[in-house]
Amino acid sequence: MHREPILIRPPSEAHSIILQITVGCSHNKCTFCGAYKDVRFRTRSEKEIDREIDFASVHCQKQKKVFLADGDALILPQNKLEALFIKIKRRLPQIHRISLYANGRAIRSKTDQDLGRLKQLGLDRVYLGIESGDDNILSTICKAETSVSLAAASKRVIDAGLFLSTTIILGIAGIKGSMPHARQTAKLLNKIKPNQIAALTLMPLANTQLGQLIGSGLFHLPDSQAVLKELRELIRHLDCDRVQFMANHASNYLPISGRLQRDKDVILSRIDNAIKRKIELIPDYMRTL
Ligand code: SF4
Repeated sequence: MHREPILIRPPSEAHSIILQITVGCSHNKCTFCGAYKDVRFRTRSEKEIDREIDFASVHCQKQKKVFLADGDALILPQNKLEALFIKIKRRLPQIHRISLYANGRAIRSKTDQDLGRLKQLGLDRVYLGIESGDDNILSTICKAETSVSLAAASKRVIDAGLFLSTTIILGIAGIKGSMPHARQTAKLLNKIKPNQIAALTLMPLANTQLGQLIGSGLFHLPDSQAVLKELRELIRHLDCDRVQFMANHASNYLPISGRLQRDKDVILSRIDNAIKRKIELIPDYMRTL
């Protein structure tokens, strides 16, 4: 089966069938993101997608979940998405969960009715990269979103009955902006009240604008201790109930997983112990994206 070379999916979709319905990201301007830098965005043809479904129907019968790639698969026109969901239901009847990445623009390209219809047809989970709740940072990283637009887009996903998983990035504000980033991000997440928050730690890539700024000494990356303090400040200010919080992505220095607010004190104490060096951190050479 032919596939475009890069396939990126959230860690929790490790056991899903990955159907690549778009290639790249229609935005592709975030200064920290090197995932699709050399990839021209396009939607894949029906024939290409059908080949993937044919393959999955023969070889992936035990897998119960589908993840639609790439970077903002929700941008596919509504009629094409609906036809695809119907096809998945027919050709892969064992599937009980369909998930995809979306950005604010992709969510805004759908009406409330469109989102509701996708939910009816099997869409279950939307992964949204928020990165920061600090408008200065969102602007600096060229996210093309504000905290207000991200909150509005998130609300529409939740109102459609979909599971919303949000991603934020520790270290993205550098040393100087670290604490405001933590507090503003917590404030935005408190407003959104997503089902899941996943924290990644910035690992700059040489092919990105941010990587080049670091290389030229214009952006100062926080060290592991500063990242832990940022994470602590974020958690301290989070006030959303029944939210799964995960910082167990391979880029993080300290794996954390728990349910807020229930596990907040346990999480804070784990971070404190790591700051006091009572818990060993993941060394830089073992961190990965
Ligand atoms: S929207 Fe997501 S995939 Fe697209 S450039 Fe930004 S971080 Fe990368």
